[in-house]
Amino acid sequence: MEDCLFCKIIRGEIPSEILLDTEQVCAFSDINPQTPVHIIIVPKKHVAGVDELDADSREVVGDLVLAANRLAREKGIAESGYRLVLNCGPDAGQTVFHLHLHLMGGRRMGAQG
Ligand code: 5GP
Ligand code: ZN
Repeated sequence: MEDCLFCKIIRGEIPSEILLDTEQVCAFSDINPQTPVHIIIVPKKHVAGVDELDADSREVVGDLVLAANRLAREKGIAESGYRLVLNCGPDAGQTVFHLHLHLMGGRRMGAQG
């Protein structure tokens, strides 16, 4: 995916603070954090969003959540708690069309964030 922002971050073409880089997933700090810890976790393989997932891609979702679990421990928010967000489509406010899980924590959140 030539023009995809997150594919460019994965390829190192756009600088970002990479926090995890495995065979399956990459995680980096959000450029506009909404919480003290705000990490974007993406599959290395380009998938536009949740709507494109099927039974063959169920491992992709598992990899993202397990990466969140690991990063939450590393960032010290596993005990205090955190929120995982997957925005899908315009009404949810998805702006980057490469599947990504937001890991947010480090402060008490309400229903609206
Ligand atoms: P969405 O709204 O699509 O669920 O989330 C996209 C997220 O990507 C936003 O939280 C936004 O701040 C973040 N983001 C957008 N552009 C960049 C960038 O160039 N670098 C990083 N690290 N994050 C970005
Ligand atoms: Zn992509």
